[in-house]
Amino acid sequence: MTGSENKKVADINGYREPIFLEPHFTHNIWGGTKLRDVFGYNVEGDDIGECWAIAARPNGRSVAKNGPFKGMGLDELYSSHRELFGSQHDKFPLLIKIIDAKSDLSIQVHPDDDYAREHENGSLGKTECWYVLDCDDDASLVVGHNATSRQELCSMMDEGRWSDLIREVKIKKNDFIQIDPGTVHAIKGGVVVLETQQNSDITYRLYDYDRLWNGKKRELHVEKCKDVITVPAKDASSSIVHDTDTEQGIRLLDSCAYYDVYRINVTDTLEVETDSLYKLFSVIEGEGSVDGYPLKKGDHFILPAHYGKATLSGNMKLIMSMEE
Ligand code: ZN
Repeated sequence: MTGSENKKVADINGYREPIFLEPHFTHNIWGGTKLRDVFGYNVEGDDIGECWAIAARPNGRSVAKNGPFKGMGLDELYSSHRELFGSQHDKFPLLIKIIDAKSDLSIQVHPDDDYAREHENGSLGKTECWYVLDCDDDASLVVGHNATSRQELCSMMDEGRWSDLIREVKIKKNDFIQIDPGTVHAIKGGVVVLETQQNSDITYRLYDYDRLWNGKKRELHVEKCKDVITVPAKDASSSIVHDTDTEQGIRLLDSCAYYDVYRINVTDTLEVETDSLYKLFSVIEGEGSVDGYPLKKGDHFILPAHYGKATLSGNMKLIMSMEE
């Protein structure tokens, strides 16, 4: 090891600097312009669907913006500097996105880990959750369905009785929705969400409103949907939190087998502690700072393991998450 490498390792043990991330963006047929117009991201086009804010996927990664890791993708950072994370997975386990749905996304469902392992070459299933950042008046999301038995589910699908089958729920800004595997779901047009999810990509499409995209319908996965959809669906109200509180503080929104997700309101100063496991942060409103580093809406950063106490100050709202 050279002298400079030695010094780098010494600096990194007890590394005490937030790691800011530059997102990856995707262009989608249903995307819009809010990621540029509302969040200020420097990205071209009128079909910007997703900001992969904290991402370590082979087809898109966020990249460190500061410090000795500047320019390094999160996938590489996780595999080469595990001491920053304090966790042991083959790959970085979470994925944080902001999604701008200008038009309706297709109606879909994700398998759980067991089904995905067996039917998708050992892949992980997907559990995800949404925090509504912006939506039109009268907005809704698809969460669940109305079939009472698997037989009824299959016949409704076969007969194309989609409006009977699909359950839409009215939502407002600051609603939080947990989507377990097996839950029929879709983001509807006019809704912007921050999504926290398992780092997995296995999606079964149930219905795409018979739309043509470039002259073709998108592929559906009818049989796999029939296998994995939970019947009957969970009551929608048990998956939704109306997070209207504006007082300073930290609120746990959901704790599941893969992640804990919190909402943080800062109106003055507030301390968060990071011990043996890293924490992920996304600023979703306002501005302020973390230990003197400026923060604004649309910023995403990691506090490394053993960072200790961090002071958030200003007037802002954040989503904080950590793996389970
Ligand atoms: Zn999904």
